[in-house]
Amino acid sequence: MIELISFDIDGTLEMGDPPGIITLDMVRHARQLGYLIGSCSDRPISVQTRLWDEQQIAVDFTVLKHRLEDVRSQFSATVYYHIGDTHADQYYAQQAGFHFIWAEAEDVRRHGPNFLQSLFQA
Ligand SMILES: [Mg+2]
Repeated sequence: MIELISFDIDGTLEMGDPPGIITLDMVRHARQLGYLIGSCSDRPISVQTRLWDEQQIAVDFTVLKHRLEDVRSQFSATVYYHIGDTHADQYYAQQAGFHFIWAEAEDVRRHGPNFLQSLFQA
């Protein structure tokens, strides 16, 4: 079973501006567990790629926020998640048929991928 997680950057990942609650270790762990991972952000693709390169994390995709549908058609997964911190994230996730998760511990606990849910258990 292949699951895919799309991460917004700013306000969602610890390397974002502002930093969010999702640590890069969590992202690395997702990759080790076999999740397809990548970023979906307003930042230009070149910047997204550089940020991942600096962290030495190999990602499967980098897309602009309104192109999340491209990820859906490009990868065959059983579940698609997008984690973000704004209503724009929520809008584009729903348009593309992704489960939307707010970048807040409570929402990750409720709706996130299993491994992330467990990491946010109190
Ligand atoms: Mg954001």
